[in-house]
Amino acid sequence: MEINKLLEKGVDLIKDREFGNPVLEAILILSNLLNVDKTYIYTHGKDEVSQEVEDKYLKLMNKRASGYPVQYILKEREFMGLDFYIEEGVLVPRPDTEILVEYIIEYIKEEYGKKKINILDLGIGSGAISLSLAYYCRNAEVYGIDIGDIPLKVANINKEKFNLNNVNFYKGDLFKAIKGLSLEEKFHIIVSNPPYIPREEIDKLQDEVKDFEPRLALDGGEDGLDFYRRITPKSKTYLIKGGLLIYEIGYDQGKAVRDILTKEGFQRVSILKDLQGLDRAIFGIK
Ligand code: GLN
Repeated sequence: MEINKLLEKGVDLIKDREFGNPVLEAILILSNLLNVDKTYIYTHGKDEVSQEVEDKYLKLMNKRASGYPVQYILKEREFMGLDFYIEEGVLVPRPDTEILVEYIIEYIKEEYGKKKINILDLGIGSGAISLSLAYYCRNAEVYGIDIGDIPLKVANINKEKFNLNNVNFYKGDLFKAIKGLSLEEKFHIIVSNPPYIPREEIDKLQDEVKDFEPRLALDGGEDGLDFYRRITPKSKTYLIKGGLLIYEIGYDQGKAVRDILTKEGFQRVSILKDLQGLDRAIFGIK
């Protein structure tokens, strides 16, 4: 079949959904499958593709039509200017999380300049936060922790992809993963984008998220705050005095997480808003 005709079929399969960008996605998925640039698709519309390619493509487009995230099909997602390898089993990095990373990069520049510092990232997923910090702050040594095998695998693939040696990943349940490494009071920064969706809210999320993204990366317990309650007290053992604890939070969790940080004695607790003016991150100083 001709590329143009196949694209049309692909767009038809997904054009009635209320999310995504059907034409762009149809082109991206085809160029990815053919292993060509997307401009190739524009300029070679009259080329014929094999039956095998046609079948594979329509299968992928049907999968996409069911809500399967396009990033899991393309196996790639851009975050902080870096193209992360992504697969099912890790949360797709969100643009909102860049707010957190950009804040930390600026904070490091101002607070530490080029001095050597240690950062701990709890719940790495694809490694988006750990690796973009390690990439942009070469003076930082980053320790990333996750409980899942797939995140560990994916994050290590990305570590290699970006050729970074100032980051190491550990498997385990939060701080337990680095127990015994004598890292108490060694971290200048602890960062986490933990699961924070209240359990009964998960089923109200978009199909793309609730049906295909890992529950483990979303489920923050009954009120969504379980991980903030677990991490905050323990983080004091691992932070230097004056160290920064910074979290991504849900759009309406600012006040509740502020209370947790304040209760644990964190100073200068502040909320960062996203472009829509909603709560997106929070930090405090030990
Ligand atoms: N921001 C994600 C979402 O809205 C949630 C990520 C998380 O729980 N850390 O789907």
